Amino acid sequence: MSARIIDGRALAAALNAETARRIAASGFRPGLAVILVGDDPASTVYVRGKDRAARAAGIAAESILLPADTSEAALLARIAALNADPMIDGILVQLPLPPQIRPRAAIEAIDPAKDVDGLSPVNVGRLFAGRPFLIPCTPLGVMKLLAAADVSISGARALVIGRSSLVGRPLAALLLTADATVTIAHSRTRDLAAECRRAEILVAAAGQPELVRGDWIGSESVVIDVGIHRLPGGGLRGDVAFAEALPVAAAITPVPGGVGPMTIACLLENTLTAALARRDQPARGQPGRG
Ligand code: NAP
Repeated sequence: MSARIIDGRALAAALNAETARRIAASGFRPGLAVILVGDDPASTVYVRGKDRAARAAGIAAESILLPADTSEAALLARIAALNADPMIDGILVQLPLPPQIRPRAAIEAIDPAKDVDGLSPVNVGRLFAGRPFLIPCTPLGVMKLLAAADVSISGARALVIGRSSLVGRPLAALLLTADATVTIAHSRTRDLAAECRRAEILVAAAGQPELVRGDWIGSESVVIDVGIHRLPGGGLRGDVAFAEALPVAAAITPVPGGVGPMTIACLLENTLTAALARRDQPARGQPGRG
């Protein structure tokens, strides 16, 4: 039997349409500032994509492009100005940053109320306390994919491969809040294959192309592939050997067309959530926030 494909493109399009509808009904335009330091080609593409999607949803998006030799103090001053700007609801600093800037310093400078990437200590603390507000976009997208695919999370054995602040750790916290029994695997995990075989929900976010093989996957398992790897000859691969996994898993996200489109869709939703909270309006349809 072939796994059910979980279509991230369709879900992201539906979420974007819903965010645009809610913005149109709100009577205001949320403001989003995306800061890019330097001209890293992949980051430039991501920032352009975010800018385009935000404008299409009715968000007043602003890309702030700073030279690669920008000092940490100059970046922090720019963030402070955006924190104080009443027209700005969301601030995102595109990572990675040049070596003279500490990523933590930049992230911690963002007002938690405008931290639409959900990486500031206040938002991380709220997430791990089970009271999330602004949730990192990729893990939030994974949770929405699971919900849309009607995956029963409560009581399920979930394995998250990867423990980064951006993906693995926040995702493990979200799965725990949703009552999964969560295991986090990383580069020191012994016998990753055995951990995978036990998992009913398997999320691969290791940054290793096709790390998870078909014979690591249980027949009832739902596989979410967060990895993105550009092949030298063009095309994309994930952290899961898709062709091997397809005949085995119960459901799986493809790469491309799975988690990737959900990340930007969740950024737009987070911008609206931040804008509504700053205006003291409840973010309807956002269970678990508060
Ligand atoms: P990261 O910061 O490099 O973290 C990778 C994690 O995987 C680390 O915790 C590492 O363990 C673990 N790991 C590495 N090799 C492993 C192995 N052989 N076995 C088990 N664990 C292993 O990466 P990230 O930022 O979390 O991103 C992960 C992947 O997701 C990348 O491919 C990235 O491009 C992709 N991504 C996609 C989206 C999207 O929108 N779809 C968004 C963000 C990231 P240690 O901690 O022990 O080193």
